[in-house]
Amino acid sequence: MKILLKNCKLISMQESREKIEDDVDILIENSYIKNIQKNIKDNDAKMINLKGKVVMPGFINTHAHVPMSLFKESVDGYVLQDWLEKKIWPIEDKLTSDDIYKYSKMTFDEMINTGTTFVNDQYFNTEDIIKAANDKKIRIELTRTLMDSDGNGMKRLDELKYILDKYDNYNTNITLNVGIHGLYTSNEKYIKEVTDFARQRNLKIHMHFCENEKEVEDIKREYNVKFPAQVLEKYFMGIKLILAHCVKLTDEDIDIFKKLDVSVSHCPVSNLKLGCGIAQVQKLIDNGINVSLGTDGQGSGSNMDMFETMKFTALLQKGINENPMNMMSYDVIKLATINGAKALGKEKEVGSIDINKKADLIAIDLESTCVNMPINDIFSTIVYNAKGVNVKFLMVDGEIVR
Ligand SMILES: [Zn+2]
Repeated sequence: MKILLKNCKLISMQESREKIEDDVDILIENSYIKNIQKNIKDNDAKMINLKGKVVMPGFINTHAHVPMSLFKESVDGYVLQDWLEKKIWPIEDKLTSDDIYKYSKMTFDEMINTGTTFVNDQYFNTEDIIKAANDKKIRIELTRTLMDSDGNGMKRLDELKYILDKYDNYNTNITLNVGIHGLYTSNEKYIKEVTDFARQRNLKIHMHFCENEKEVEDIKREYNVKFPAQVLEKYFMGIKLILAHCVKLTDEDIDIFKKLDVSVSHCPVSNLKLGCGIAQVQKLIDNGINVSLGTDGQGSGSNMDMFETMKFTALLQKGINENPMNMMSYDVIKLATINGAKALGKEKEVGSIDINKKADLIAIDLESTCVNMPINDIFSTIVYNAKGVNVKFLMVDGEIVR
């Protein structure tokens, strides 16, 4: 199957290419981009004219809980731990397989409608989410979330092992990792067990980390450390880590991060909604840490629109650092695309548009963001003016999804 995208204004996010390429064609064969240049002719290809549209990589959302469309705007005014214990976990305990499938499909629709092609998820009932992802044709990395606060940690690890064995090499759009809810809902013995397992199977770990002050205090007490990152240094060395939030890091934590293979998934909307604080994203980037973006679940993150996440990211860093040079628009788009791919170890396959990469891309109608107004800077128009509704076309793995 060949598809030829005609007359694209291309923002490839590929370092070796121009930042903007006008009026180029993109030839896609099966899953892959085969050619990018002006005036490609191929009589066998299905032609799609994208004149006037900006074509860019699909967004990579590196932290979400897909079935949580169920909790969309169900609560306001709770701190993280109360929200989890009183409002989320008691309902999650009663969810059926059908619920998980149904609410996952809703979230995938929201993602596809707002430009996300790849999501890193952390939840349970993993098989129902895989089924929904297959139906909706989105790319996903997922897990069976591990925690041991109720003493059932080993049972959860067995469930994860079952999923890993069953879905290994199942489908190129579906990959798996080890998801740990957090250090504060685990304990030292369990963390040792799980990290040994991840290392042995060469799997990434996706975990919430230092989301608010209470969590930091809980970790210090449970693990008898001065800084939470000391637990990472002790148990997570040599493991590729995706840490969501990282709102309450000290300079000592960041120094330890530099010794680890760690990416931070910044979720500004969720952090603000739960009153957690604002992560020092610019400082992390200045220290060479890979930062990507996530929405978190809709219960705290409200929606899956990565344009909104980009805008919050840019404005918050400029504001808290009192420096408008922070988070320039092109760099913010990097966080939402290629840095997400790096976080998931898939930067050779996705995250930018180039020959021999997977065709995961979107087309945006920027004209409709600034009707009858000039588009002076295209990158800033994407970050500050575009919204999910401006996405008019979406492709995952060379297949037209929307
Ligand atoms: Zn989360």
